Amino acid sequence: MQINVSLLNAHDFCPRVIYLKEVMEIAPDASIRKTKGLIGHAARKELSLRQSKLLGRVSCASEIENCLFCELDNVLSDFPYIYKNLLEDNDIDYEKLLAEIKSEMLPEIKIINEKLMLVVDELGIDKALEYVTPWKVEYFMKSENLKLSGRIDKVMKQNNNLIPVEIKTSSPPHSVWQGDRIQTCAYCLLLEDKFNGKISYGFVEYTKIHEQRPVMTTEQLRRTVINTRDNVIEILEGKVPEICPHGSGKKCEACDFKEVCYEI
Ligand code: SF4
Repeated sequence: MQINVSLLNAHDFCPRVIYLKEVMEIAPDASIRKTKGLIGHAARKELSLRQSKLLGRVSCASEIENCLFCELDNVLSDFPYIYKNLLEDNDIDYEKLLAEIKSEMLPEIKIINEKLMLVVDELGIDKALEYVTPWKVEYFMKSENLKLSGRIDKVMKQNNNLIPVEIKTSSPPHSVWQGDRIQTCAYCLLLEDKFNGKISYGFVEYTKIHEQRPVMTTEQLRRTVINTRDNVIEILEGKVPEICPHGSGKKCEACDFKEVCYEI
């Protein structure tokens, strides 16, 4: 059995989500809020993946902001072709939804611009381009040894070291959400297993503030990855997690399964 790394993150949110989604095969009801969340995530991720392409077009830092605005328009016009599967509900006015997402992203463009300008000012265009250009994007990996698989958003290569980057569009915490930490460490283990090296850290990129926050692959975190994987396997093999195992009403309130979870 191979566990998708995203399930480790979901397990950290609530083990019962794994049971409801993967074992009971319950799909949460689609809501406009959820659809908007999925589309907003994809649009922000797409813009992040295009940063190197965008920097390749500028000759100085002051041109970046304009390029970002143009690229945002490009992302939104390319969106229906790349993310066709997200736009299949005939009852939703996607044009209106994309326009709303665009207006939410405009303040974020200002932040991305400030941070990219700093990098260009510090390193110069050529080095900055090297710095933001991933070695691989959406890099699929699987390992029989680790019983894990997953698609890494970006893999950077710096001084021959591979560094996985997980893109998140949720609001960032003070540091890194624990589920994101586990997911990023699991990607480090997958890269280590394939390339036979040691990876000391990865990054979680929180797009809303355009910040990459490091996740160190400590022994404790590596152990948590393995333990979480084993807990997910137990659920997939039939163990039923109790209701609200985390004791957090806030999580249940925000959960896509709250309508069905307490009935089962
Ligand atoms: S409603 Fe609460 S207990 Fe149920 S799956 Fe969601 S977070 Fe877990």
